[in-house]
Amino acid sequence: MEGKGKGGLVKESRGCLAPRVPESRNSLAIVLRWRAYGESDKIATFLTEDFGKLTGIAKGAKNSRRRFPNSLEPLARVRVHFRQKPTANLAFLESCELRSSTAAFTDPTRYAYASYVVELTDQLTLEDDPVPGLYALLDEALAELERGPATSAFLRGFELQLLTRAGFEPQLDRCTRCDRVWTGDARAHLSFSHGTMTCTACRGFEESGMSVDPVLLARMAELKTLSLAACRERAHDGLARDAGQVTGRLLALHLARPLRSVRLIEQLAPGSVGRQTDSIETPDESVS
Ligand SMILES: [Zn+2]
Repeated sequence: MEGKGKGGLVKESRGCLAPRVPESRNSLAIVLRWRAYGESDKIATFLTEDFGKLTGIAKGAKNSRRRFPNSLEPLARVRVHFRQKPTANLAFLESCELRSSTAAFTDPTRYAYASYVVELTDQLTLEDDPVPGLYALLDEALAELERGPATSAFLRGFELQLLTRAGFEPQLDRCTRCDRVWTGDARAHLSFSHGTMTCTACRGFEESGMSVDPVLLARMAELKTLSLAACRERAHDGLARDAGQVTGRLLALHLARPLRSVRLIEQLAPGSVGRQTDSIETPDESVS
């Protein structure tokens, strides 16, 4: 009787005015990178399975082994728990469980190749733009690199599948302009400025580029469709170097900055990185 209704109204009114706490979410994720923030915090970026690329602040992460037990290191496969306001740039990271040890990557060469696939993925993706299958591709690549060394065909397969899933699928089996399928001894022309393959008739005189053997393009098209484990077993012969040049040119169109991991690979395995002007230097197979 004594103000029951009144109390209800006040309570309701308070409920409307109180700031809403975003709900806690979680997802499988791979750590792409982190940086220190202040004395004790870290800002980490993940590729998550359910929400795409995500960056969040981990308060007190430098001192909290309970909430962040070595789980913010690049290459770590984790389950991240976070809250995010719709308008905020940074998520609030609540905790991060380590799901898979990064012990395999204590080997410097494997660490370098794993860093390469992670860095490429990071640069070809945007936040707030989840891409179906991208997490699975990177997860598969890291799992394969835990099992064994990289090969040229493995690396080209990953690069081509990454381009495809990120929305930059190269058309390799026919001329991009006239749709003519490669036949006989016709050569394809890769445009460095557009990343497209054209036939001799459609090639503009003004375009810089390189001539590519359609036999190589057919092999590369196959790599787009295979599992990375199957790619690893594919033969890589005299055409391997050209394949690396083609993917290097295609990737370079989408990279904002040079890849640090490529420098690391070249230091560990001299000669394994192709030299191309105005292109990224795609690494070749591991020597380990
Ligand atoms: Zn054409």
